[in-house]
Amino acid sequence: MADLEIFQKTLGQLGTNCYIMVNHDTNECIVFDPADEAHVLKEIFDTPEFQLKAIFLTHGHYDHMGAANELKNTYHVPIYASKEESEKLLCKAGANLSVMFGNPITVEADEQLKDGQQVEIIGTMLKCLLTPGHTAGGMCYYCEELQSVISGDTLFCESVGRTDFPTGSGSELERSVREKLFALPDETKVFPGHMNMTTIKWEKENNPYF
Ligand SMILES: [Zn+2]
Repeated sequence: MADLEIFQKTLGQLGTNCYIMVNHDTNECIVFDPADEAHVLKEIFDTPEFQLKAIFLTHGHYDHMGAANELKNTYHVPIYASKEESEKLLCKAGANLSVMFGNPITVEADEQLKDGQQVEIIGTMLKCLLTPGHTAGGMCYYCEELQSVISGDTLFCESVGRTDFPTGSGSELERSVREKLFALPDETKVFPGHMNMTTIKWEKENNPYF
């Protein structure tokens, strides 16, 4: 078993959770949702203990990817996102909310992920769970070895993400959580895009949306 750990950094004006998964055996790491404040993240990735290998996006909202291009250009690492998100949000500054935030950007995914795809990286395996609802191409990343899922804005502690932005759908979000996330083992730790960590068991029993 690899010596894996997940660190959280809360970044940007909306307090978006960015997660860094590191393999302490190899000092390789990946980052999920580099939200903003690239300088904060670069301080970490400039150390030998955190060699950045890839950037994963849960979805294409500006407040989750504001630092993605700068990290990609600095460390020459690929950006992973779902195919749907890549086509519908990443490349459209209006739809990805960056216009609304006053800093229009587009992001290009180097690797376009499909539902159920497994990605072997930094000595572990990530399973990609397509969870449309908050956005059409929202992707959660499940690491069985860590019993953890990075849930983006699909599932929060006792809440869910908004569905009134472009490509959002309340009925799809409900189905995604019930069929994809609640199908994970109860003990799975949930690392959401905003606010506190939770578990699948806690959300099944306490989330008022289900
Ligand atoms: Zn969002």
